[in-house]
Amino acid sequence: MSATSPHVLVIEDERAMAAVLRDNLEAEGHRVSIAGDGPSGETAWARGDADLVVLDVMLPGIDGFALCEQRRDAGDRTPVLFLSARGEPEDRVRGLRAGGDDYLAKPFHLPEFILRVEALLRRCGWSGGSDLLRFAGHTVDLRAWTATLADGRQENLGERELGILRLLASRAGEVVRRDDILDEVWGDDAFPSSRTIDNVVLRLRRLFEPDPSRPVHLHTVWGVGYRFTLEPEDGSEEEER
Ligand code: CA
Repeated sequence: MSATSPHVLVIEDERAMAAVLRDNLEAEGHRVSIAGDGPSGETAWARGDADLVVLDVMLPGIDGFALCEQRRDAGDRTPVLFLSARGEPEDRVRGLRAGGDDYLAKPFHLPEFILRVEALLRRCGWSGGSDLLRFAGHTVDLRAWTATLADGRQENLGERELGILRLLASRAGEVVRRDDILDEVWGDDAFPSSRTIDNVVLRLRRLFEPDPSRPVHLHTVWGVGYRFTLEPEDGSEEEER
């Protein structure tokens, strides 16, 4: 089930604070990793597997503003919630200018922290603990194995269709290799041909793509695997036609 829960990277040097945040995020069903200073936060963030970064401003090594600017300059658009001991309006502005998506001044109430985290995750397609994936007007219920398409049609999803969609969506924006798809969706008990994966992706495209022959969400990365994007994106660089 871990693929259905968002991964939150907490970059915070105060251990007690980091532990409280971790406990509360895990209670919401999120996966959490913690980095305790700027440089290790940068390394963890650059790994690219975080769905949200909770970023303290005052950090040893490199401060949160500079770190966020660096990642944004590198093209990283992972949502960022800044935490700062300073609640001055100009700090908030600086945080947003640095590429942050939201800003919370310490001390804060944990329920507000959680609400802001959920709001940011929803914006990028996650829906709290309800396991709904929303993109392009479609809503996929990852627990009920059903989809309500943008045009209102209801469709049932098969186990493999759901598995592939869940895996790709949990790593949205990343290339997911065929081997990883086989491991996570089929497991060890079956050896489907690559054709089998392609056929499942084909059905997903017929359901979710405006034009299945020119996919804008479920991209083929030739010879490697697939990449899913929540926002429509022209995949022509990667597609070999
Ligand atoms: Ca700090």
